[in-house]
Amino acid sequence: MKKCIAALSVALTLVGCGSSSDDNSANTSTGSDGNSGTSTELAGKMATVALQDTGTNSDCSANSQTFETTDLVVAYDIDATRSNVEELKNAARLSQVALDELISKTGLDKSAAELDITANNKWTVCFDDNKTGNGSGGVRQLDFSPKNFSDSGYILAKHELFHVFQSALLNNKAAFLHLPRWFQEGSAEYFSGRNVDSVSATTLTRFIDDANITPLSILTWNHEQSVNATYDVYQKSLEYFISRGLTTAQILQLTRDSYRDGQDANVMPAFHTAMASLNFSSPLPVSYNNLRDNVADYRQHIIIDWLTTDEYSASFTSVSSSINIGKLIFRNLSTNNEFSGSVNTNQTAYVYNKGILADGNYNVYAINTTDTAAYGPIQQSVTNGELGAIDFSGQPELVE
Ligand SMILES: [Zn+2]
Repeated sequence: MKKCIAALSVALTLVGCGSSSDDNSANTSTGSDGNSGTSTELAGKMATVALQDTGTNSDCSANSQTFETTDLVVAYDIDATRSNVEELKNAARLSQVALDELISKTGLDKSAAELDITANNKWTVCFDDNKTGNGSGGVRQLDFSPKNFSDSGYILAKHELFHVFQSALLNNKAAFLHLPRWFQEGSAEYFSGRNVDSVSATTLTRFIDDANITPLSILTWNHEQSVNATYDVYQKSLEYFISRGLTTAQILQLTRDSYRDGQDANVMPAFHTAMASLNFSSPLPVSYNNLRDNVADYRQHIIIDWLTTDEYSASFTSVSSSINIGKLIFRNLSTNNEFSGSVNTNQTAYVYNKGILADGNYNVYAINTTDTAAYGPIQQSVTNGELGAIDFSGQPELVE
């Protein structure tokens, strides 16, 4: 089971972020995105999507009302309550805008050799109206349950659609058979546009210290569950390679090259061969194999050399000696934007990435290490980018 805290912009509530079945690549999207300011633009694009009512013929569920966009057939998922058909229409519009953006971002086209979408052979979107924030994407089809039709719902739509892109690049095979879990989910997160600027060196350090492996060695969903890895850690690891010059074209080619008929899905030799032979404009300090297999190399090159120089740190005091805090959420009181930082294992200091907090007033929430309780908020100001010492002693637990 994946655990997470989603600090939603409407209210800071504790949300158990779901898991899905492990037999079809088990895609789960979680958490809050730090993005804002795009919802008006998104609404404008959605308003231009033409919908055609095409009766009740879809692969999603029996007798579901169905709408078609230029490239998609959209109907209710088998779990949907079907309570409001306007939501189904919005899901169709959101999905088409997401598809258009991914096409533009990746440079892939709809030809048979690439995405293979025609007017008579569209992709299928199954919409679940239970607002769970989860979904999955596979061969020519996705299902998703967005919490809204703006920021987080849009990111979820792009994440699941990117899994469909991956399958298209893998000869219409399920991505989990050919792509390592970290790369499958990390690249879906990356192309969804999720912002991981606030994922800090401390977050990655905590992961490798607890799991005693690197995120790059996580190949399967089962392995992910056993070490509690999060998509943030995957995406940040992918962004390390991007910082060395890995291009979008290379990410797509890497996906294609990861296909090998009949390969062992627990080992995925084709991906490792392709990754090890990539040329980076800023060459890796040690080989990809070393970064993947050697915790000390990952720590030195990715965490210390790449990430640590950019952290702000100050002292931290926990709620009490028996409560361990893992994460802090900072909510800017004038913009409502949220950012996160991490607390060290000793509970003596916290960090966030320099430059993420604009000067102003913030509510600060403390989340425990098991993602099961939040404390605060306490109010504090950022001056010259610095939040200063944080003292949570005696703060009450936040209840919904
Ligand atoms: Zn996914």
